[in-house]
Amino acid sequence: MIRQAIDALTDHYQALGLLSPHDREYCRNRAFRLLQEPPQAYRPPQLGRKDALNTLLLAARDKKLLAGEGIAFEDDFMAKLTDVFMPRPGEYQEWIGDLLERSPEAATEKMYQVAIETEYIKLERVQQNIHHRYLADYGAVEITINLSKPEKSPEEIRLSQAAGSDYPACLLCKENVGLSEVPNPARSHHRLFQIELNGEDYFFQYSPYSYFNEHCIVFSKQHEPMEIDGRVIDRFLDFVDIFPHYFISANAELPIVGGSILTHDHYQGGRANFPIDSARSSLIYQSKELTVAKLDWPISAVRIEGDRQAVAQAAKKLINSWRSYSNPKLGILAQTDDIHNTVNLMARKPGRYQVILMFRNNRTDADNPDGIFHTNPVWQVVKRENIGIIEVMGLAILPARLMNEMGQFDQLPEYQKWLTAVPQADPLDQLGYTFSQILKDCGVFKPDQESQAAFEAFVTGSLTGSESE
Ligand SMILES: [Zn+2]
Repeated sequence: MIRQAIDALTDHYQALGLLSPHDREYCRNRAFRLLQEPPQAYRPPQLGRKDALNTLLLAARDKKLLAGEGIAFEDDFMAKLTDVFMPRPGEYQEWIGDLLERSPEAATEKMYQVAIETEYIKLERVQQNIHHRYLADYGAVEITINLSKPEKSPEEIRLSQAAGSDYPACLLCKENVGLSEVPNPARSHHRLFQIELNGEDYFFQYSPYSYFNEHCIVFSKQHEPMEIDGRVIDRFLDFVDIFPHYFISANAELPIVGGSILTHDHYQGGRANFPIDSARSSLIYQSKELTVAKLDWPISAVRIEGDRQAVAQAAKKLINSWRSYSNPKLGILAQTDDIHNTVNLMARKPGRYQVILMFRNNRTDADNPDGIFHTNPVWQVVKRENIGIIEVMGLAILPARLMNEMGQFDQLPEYQKWLTAVPQADPLDQLGYTFSQILKDCGVFKPDQESQAAFEAFVTGSLTGSESE
């Protein structure tokens, strides 16, 4: 059975393009060695990839080849097994680079297929995620309860607490490639594709948790903190030139409104549309080269469309003037002891260049210790985390614990106050309603006429003002 499984993987990965015919025997023999099994001659297998992987996992467990108990140790072994068949990082770079020259779609399709068929993205786990669409008063929003991040076993938790190493500096760093052994994530078979954005080196990979279709992560070669400024715009427009069928987006760099990893410059992209893409809009500025529309969306946002240079210039102007924009009447203060104004942004190229800027502010005060433009405490029983870029585009990533709690909201004491604030409805709709309200809490310019007029004045003033880049 082990021989048959190894032969099935060899055939499968060769068909996928991962190994060349020259590497067959080499890879097969290494797989036998990893399984501590005497090598045998090849015979055409009658086994699918999934069954082959399961067979080898069971064999490894029987032979006590796993380093511990729990899913992390299984994942680590499977990653090592897959790595036996993978091209070296430099070969992968050349392979994908050649495909990219042929077509951007060919390159992403192959990278995505490799990520799935090598189980870097565990599609079976991703498919367990719950998705739900909720129609709010301003349009649809979506929620997903993410079950693809497995819970850590006690042994894994013990090992990660004991680790305390500073290499690699973070989970994104390029130094993760080829790492294994719990508590490191299983990265033996991880491969990165290097691209150049605005003259700087970045890496492209897929997210193992796949929050949306072809969810990719683009991160800097250097372990350097997130910074949001005009350079991000230039990088994004380069990215959509390389991959015009993908969007790219950035979290803010400030706490409360930022992403979970602020210490390493990185972006999220993919082949997906979000509720914000369908938001109603009203044109507020137009020139020969570009249009700027205000979106009817709870997060104060504008969509800039046009030719590359004009879009870049307008986006940079808006980011710069937002940094110093204050409107005390609306509670918007650019700076107290710290700076508070920042943006979330995304770019696409559906023909013309498109940038959406979403204006954020992370100020707190005595009445709102968690944040003024932040999730109201009543909703935090559902989501306590920051409202980041994926959320502001209209997709909530909700914690896995909700799966268990959802059937018994009325019995759980912590949900009683929340239940009085949501409509009586199906639990998924109650969660959708909650998220639609969270987005309203996070909006800096509220929907009333005075706030919206101030928003428009800010945008048109910034675009027509003489303020330089
Ligand atoms: Zn890092």
